[in-house]
Amino acid sequence: MIWGIIRQQLTKCKFHELKLYDFIAHPLKDEEIWKTLDKEQADLIILMMADCLWSEDLQFLNKLHEHFPKTIWIAGDALLEEENRKEVQSLAQAYIPHPFFLRIENPLQKSEGILPLTLPPEYSKQKIIDHLSPRHELFIDKVYRWPFAHHKLYTSVFTNWGCPYQCEYCINSSFPFHRRSLSDLKIELTRIKELNIKEIYIGDRSFGFPKNESIEFLKMMIDEQFNFSWSCYFHPLHTDKELLGLMKKAGCHTLIIGIEDHKQESLKTYSRHLPTEILSKLFIYAKELRLEICGDFLFGLPHQKRADLETLIDYSLTLPLSYASYNLLAPLPGTSLRKEIAKSQDARNFDSLGKIKVFSYGQIAEEELLKLRNKAISKFYLRPGYLLKRLCSIKSLEHLAIQFEEMLLLFKKAFMK
Ligand code: SF4
Repeated sequence: MIWGIIRQQLTKCKFHELKLYDFIAHPLKDEEIWKTLDKEQADLIILMMADCLWSEDLQFLNKLHEHFPKTIWIAGDALLEEENRKEVQSLAQAYIPHPFFLRIENPLQKSEGILPLTLPPEYSKQKIIDHLSPRHELFIDKVYRWPFAHHKLYTSVFTNWGCPYQCEYCINSSFPFHRRSLSDLKIELTRIKELNIKEIYIGDRSFGFPKNESIEFLKMMIDEQFNFSWSCYFHPLHTDKELLGLMKKAGCHTLIIGIEDHKQESLKTYSRHLPTEILSKLFIYAKELRLEICGDFLFGLPHQKRADLETLIDYSLTLPLSYASYNLLAPLPGTSLRKEIAKSQDARNFDSLGKIKVFSYGQIAEEELLKLRNKAISKFYLRPGYLLKRLCSIKSLEHLAIQFEEMLLLFKKAFMK
């Protein structure tokens, strides 16, 4: 969605041509990067920076600044944190921590100093936002992966932005909630259809909210016969037979749900509410409708001890899940956890995979957390009965190739440094 808004605002400033370079997905040698960017003679370069790759991204920004000292803006949720903003202050002309903190007046005349960070008036009051379709053709590329997709080429669509819930460990809890108009979404889906894309990922942080608008959206998808195959994040609190039935009819095949921990009472201390009976109801409806479910679990929450994580692993194996995602808790920008951690240590460069640094509260050592996470992956995915079920759920050769590749990558990422 950030690209939709950037595009909208740049169009107002009469910057029409937007090009995308992803040097992570398509790595180039240093000299080739500068050659490529020099050739473009861009009026403006917008660099996405990630908190979990902060050191690496900062190094790149420094080099970028040497080459293009007056034409850089930076974007990304890492900029929610003041310490990060301070570090890049002298290296860029503007920064965009999230799509609704963007103000562009006339970038070329504002080449010195940071632009004011003010919510554009059109977004500050109204909760419905329009004209935000990004140029999907820029993002459709075989190197981009979505593990739940049934087709290799896919793109992401957001029907709303932000999250109405307040889970304290989650970055989305600090963003404002805005939803998009039905007419805007219809235009976007029509464009995607014209690009011959069959798979979409609905990137809402918790699809199904607000319920009536979600139902309208699903009915529009059905009436327009878009026939997309799709998946989304779904909050179990939105469990409703009519809603789930329409999702299935509109092409949804997989729901990703946050379960996090088996101790619902403990989750309440992080403002996360998920009654077990609602979860059970969701599993019943999903089974009836043949919707697949991926359960997300969190390892490293402050209340968890080693024995709790062993129990959590066993609990996850008892649930009727098609996939399980075992994530390491990371102090994400904008969360209360981050504020607390940043008082005593550098809270950057942590990620939920533990690739660079593993975050531990001290109850369970970092290596132990990794071992437990890897144990969970092996126990869940290497069950013969599970593997057989997965094979039986394969829809096509393309789907088989995606699932096989994802399985290999999952183990490679977890077990290889
Ligand atoms: S964990 Fe999920 S429900 Fe909670 S704030 Fe984040 S996105 Fe929203």
